[in-house]
Amino acid sequence: MAHPQELTFEQGVDFLRQLKDFGDPMPQLILTGGDPLKRPDLYELIDAARELGIGTSITPAATPAFTREVLVKLKEHGVEGLGLSLDAPTADLHDSIRGVPGTFDRTMQAIAWAQELEMPLQVNTLAAAETVDHLPAVYELLKPFGIARWSLFFLISVGRGKVLQPLTPEEGEKLMGWVYETTKVAPFIVATTEAPSYRRVALEHMREEGMTGEQIKQSGQFRSFGIRDGHGIMFVSNTGDICPAGFLPLAVGNVKTDRVADIYRNAPVFQALHDSTQLEGRCGICEYHSLCGGSRARAFGASGNLLGEDPFCEYIPHSKGPH
Ligand code: SF4
Repeated sequence: MAHPQELTFEQGVDFLRQLKDFGDPMPQLILTGGDPLKRPDLYELIDAARELGIGTSITPAATPAFTREVLVKLKEHGVEGLGLSLDAPTADLHDSIRGVPGTFDRTMQAIAWAQELEMPLQVNTLAAAETVDHLPAVYELLKPFGIARWSLFFLISVGRGKVLQPLTPEEGEKLMGWVYETTKVAPFIVATTEAPSYRRVALEHMREEGMTGEQIKQSGQFRSFGIRDGHGIMFVSNTGDICPAGFLPLAVGNVKTDRVADIYRNAPVFQALHDSTQLEGRCGICEYHSLCGGSRARAFGASGNLLGEDPFCEYIPHSKGPH
């Protein structure tokens, strides 16, 4: 059942119109969930975004409601990209992580449809204690499909009672080494989410390999720099709350009463996230602060301090960094 405070269609369209305040280039919209397919006015909202010149991608849940016909319709309405979750290379493992039998088969079917319909596809995979040993097999499984991007989401601990456990910093460092080697041969982009210290790891590997500054620049490893949460992205919930990121549940305003671009540009939380010299702890004295900046979502989850150090990274800074 929809949340009683969920944005109405009119409020949703008003939010989309607000995105024009950002000017050129217009922000890109990613419809996520839960399951965005549950909104009865989904296609009208997608049409409204398209009319405003906003590119839209979608990450539907792999339920029986997500059929080939739905994907065709999404494409007809101008959806430019699809995101799907695949956490393990077998039905047993994936379905036990997701807690819903049949999810693996439906996801693999949807991957095949995306390939057939030439819909650009990002596959998202959890990197957690329970999945880390299976990630090479997930990579092998995905290799034959013409996916655009494989994104490894490094799980953030959000308290007790959760089924999956985050990686330890040592496990994370080892996995990042594997990711670095995989990026050299993968037929698609391999990226990390909520693990910006991957950029430090990649840079250290490239330096060890004797690459020059120019070769490092040309390597394609650094598509983005610095803090990502609230800096280049923002998250608006189903009820309109404006947060720096989906995994950083710190509501700074609401699109029903605030202008989204005003919050992004002027709210102190967002301003702090736009300036890596304000970081604290090890991230605050780290020479990689502008390249990496740490996961702000993980720092906030661990200590309640948005600007604190990212506990997932064990790097001991050599220099005095920005301060
Ligand atoms: S200490 Fe912080 S800024 Fe430095 S590499 Fe680690 S996470 Fe990144």
